Amino acid sequence: MRRVAVSLLAGLTVISCTDLPVSDSSLKRTEYVMGTMLSISVGGRSPADLDRALDSAFAVVHDLDSKLSNYDSASELSRINREAPGEVSVSPETFEFLELTLAAAHESSGALNPAIGPVIKLWGFYGDDMKVPDANDLDFALSLVDYSSIVLDSATRTVRLSEGMLLDPGATGKGYALNLADKVLRQMEIPTVFFDFGGQFYRRGADTVDLAIRHPRSDSVVASLIRMATGSVATSGDYERYFEQDGVRYAHIVDPRTGRPVPDRVSVTVFAEDPFVADYLSTALFVLGSESDLLNLYPGSGALFASWQDDSLVFLARGSWSDLEGP
Ligand code: ADP
Ligand code: MG
Repeated sequence: MRRVAVSLLAGLTVISCTDLPVSDSSLKRTEYVMGTMLSISVGGRSPADLDRALDSAFAVVHDLDSKLSNYDSASELSRINREAPGEVSVSPETFEFLELTLAAAHESSGALNPAIGPVIKLWGFYGDDMKVPDANDLDFALSLVDYSSIVLDSATRTVRLSEGMLLDPGATGKGYALNLADKVLRQMEIPTVFFDFGGQFYRRGADTVDLAIRHPRSDSVVASLIRMATGSVATSGDYERYFEQDGVRYAHIVDPRTGRPVPDRVSVTVFAEDPFVADYLSTALFVLGSESDLLNLYPGSGALFASWQDDSLVFLARGSWSDLEGP
């Protein structure tokens, strides 16, 4: 267990990960997709090859966005939600995404719950009208989040929800997209890749780099520095989307057991080799806290928790986090 006082960290400068030195043989492009900015840097091949690689990687992510977006009524995910309790046939990507996400839901005993949609909607986190909901409405919304009733049929590649259910892809969509995009880059034999997907990082390369993890209350202060070659770092934070009512901050990650935003947790940053796992674990551990043993299921993974304890912000490193810490 490791505790770090915030004041000790003040004064350090952030090394922005997207500004990592790029050599002559690397190329970087940034586009808006999945509701955020995605930057991809690729290196180690000819400029023409790298340009083609970026085209392919972005095409994969845009295509996935058009399938998984819950803001686009034409997406497969919106169709699944709209047609519940009807059966909907989907693409291999949407099916695999749901299989992996449901497996993570079971593994985390529902701390990660892709069926949390009715609760997120009730709190207003999908739009601008965020407010503490009525208790009866919350009870009703909570009766609609039983992810174990979702039926995935791999023989017909169909999905069926129960009446009133709403899937929310927000907690694992970016992690899944990173895997799909890197699969294409591997097929194209691109040796060095770096993604910054709205604050989730994924890197694959032979050499190591130092990654600065921002402080949850100031993006110009470094909370931790880790050294890595290949792997992903995902953060779930209370500063991404939140509102305040009667002096209390309510942020967009909900404990599915209570239907309420997790209190006192400020951020959870996870390192895992696989970007889907990093994305999944950051959300699940935000709900479960530092006492959870989920990290043990993923050798090499680590997490940095920031939580309020008696009015002070306390950082706790778990799993491999302390071993990853750089200079
Ligand atoms: P970010 O989207 O900021 O990277 P996360 O990966 O943690 O952060 O995803 C948070 C989003 O997931 C929320 O905005 C919400 O839509 C959804 N969500 C909130 N709580 C849960 C939960 N317990 N399980 C699954 N999804 C959740
Ligand atoms: Mg996540």
